[in-house]
Amino acid sequence: MLTLVIYPHPMLQRACRSLTKKELAGDLVGDRGLKDLVNEMLSMMVEKKGVGLAAPQVGLPIRLLVMMGPDGPLALANPRLENVSKDMVMGDEGCLSTPGLVGQVRRFREVIASGEGFDGGGFRPVRLHLTEMFARIFQHEHDHLGGILFLKRAEKVFGRSSSWAHGIIQSLCWTWSSSWSEIELKERYPVGLPFEAGT
Ligand SMILES: [Zn+2]
Repeated sequence: MLTLVIYPHPMLQRACRSLTKKELAGDLVGDRGLKDLVNEMLSMMVEKKGVGLAAPQVGLPIRLLVMMGPDGPLALANPRLENVSKDMVMGDEGCLSTPGLVGQVRRFREVIASGEGFDGGGFRPVRLHLTEMFARIFQHEHDHLGGILFLKRAEKVFGRSSSWAHGIIQSLCWTWSSSWSEIELKERYPVGLPFEAGT
């Protein structure tokens, strides 16, 4: 069974290796085949109510991600960010590995992504044009494979205050702004093309 890795675990801050042709063709990755791993990651994503999950988030330093796509859940091995739109858009993001934290992150509005897509039976090369929310999810998950968390790109990060539960119980009337407070992060990464991880 897979276990979710929580920040600040070092696994979330290292570059992942590419999957080999043999692994894509069925060789074991650790103790399981890639197909089983993809299915387990998709199940975890749905169960945890996430919209994406990258392999380092389940403790595996390999270039593999699953996410909600325009046509439903998808899995990509060795994903690449091929091209991006000129315009960017700000939006809120959270992460299954950073519970209780949300941030405002500027992302490219559209991206062209490529990689080895999972079609249920195996992996084959795919090229995807993703826009808006799906472009954002891909950029977030692709960043994970380079060891970059959204916290590093966020212009503002908010944490849930300790009185949050109290607020609900006492008043049943709380607002986002009074429940979350801005957190200062010292280390930031500029937005840009994520670097390609080493092998
Ligand atoms: Zn994440």
